[in-house]
Amino acid sequence: MIIHNMMEDAVKDILEKQWGNLSISCYCSECKMDVLAMSLNRLKPHYIRNRAGMMYTKANLMTEQSRATILTAIVESSKVVSAHPCHR
Ligand SMILES: [Zn+2]
Repeated sequence: MIIHNMMEDAVKDILEKQWGNLSISCYCSECKMDVLAMSLNRLKPHYIRNRAGMMYTKANLMTEQSRATILTAIVESSKVVSAHPCHR
């Protein structure tokens, strides 16, 4: 590991758990990746470069407040992907 965006892990984790609960027009893996990328663009990245930072950042990203922020970004992104899926 050289440098790692912990926000990516947090968004992937929440997206995996909530994917079935989202109201989205298509549940294919491409649309899922679109939602992931779009959510990450909406959220502030959390870059770390070592394991100590990983534990600390993980704890910070798992608070109720940040989980709610991440889920909001995912829900908003899924609305956009539903309206404009990149494939047909
Ligand atoms: Zn799709």
